[in-house]
Amino acid sequence: MNSAFIGYGSNLGDSRALIRRALIELSSYGPVRSSGLYRSRPVGPQDQPDFWNGVAQLQTTLEPLALLDVLQALEQQAGRERLRHWGERTLDLDLLLYGNACIQTPRLTVPHLQLQVRSFVLMPLLELAPDLAVDGTLLSSLPAATDSTGITRVDDQNWWMA
Ligand code: ATP
Ligand code: CA
Ligand code: CA
Repeated sequence: MNSAFIGYGSNLGDSRALIRRALIELSSYGPVRSSGLYRSRPVGPQDQPDFWNGVAQLQTTLEPLALLDVLQALEQQAGRERLRHWGERTLDLDLLLYGNACIQTPRLTVPHLQLQVRSFVLMPLLELAPDLAVDGTLLSSLPAATDSTGITRVDDQNWWMA
């Protein structure tokens, strides 16, 4: 089994329902835990709604590219459309970390390139795994790990269940 961390986000449509459905579908590939649910100001264009976001941990035997296929299929199922860079979307699923894997292919870069600078990713991620390190750096020691500007935790780790 490998431990994958997946960042989720949505700011179009019924975001909570769309994310919940994706987490339930991910559960068919192995045990899933989620962080609490967060509201955050968008990065990129500011004339779009706030995001609902968080991080899920999936224990799975799926290989990284197969997992990316699953994540992208779930985005499509949620009606994801490509509008503008870092713009609004019904569902975004990013593979943040996959065990200790370091992957650089045209389709997939792991660890996710923006991981270390995004508070709205680091805060939920560290809820699930406070001692995580990447390249020898404790994620909790990064400035973005404690900068909660524009970010509010609005629900607990069981928000997507029942
Ligand atoms: P960002 O990656 O900065 O969060 P984004 O999520 O808006 O931006 P997308 O448009 O969702 O970017 O994805 C663009 C491409 O990124 C995808 O087609 C995918 O192949 C590629 N990609 C590379 N690495 C990853 C990763 N770790 N997780 C998800 N997609 C990735
Ligand atoms: Ca993203
Ligand atoms: Ca993405």
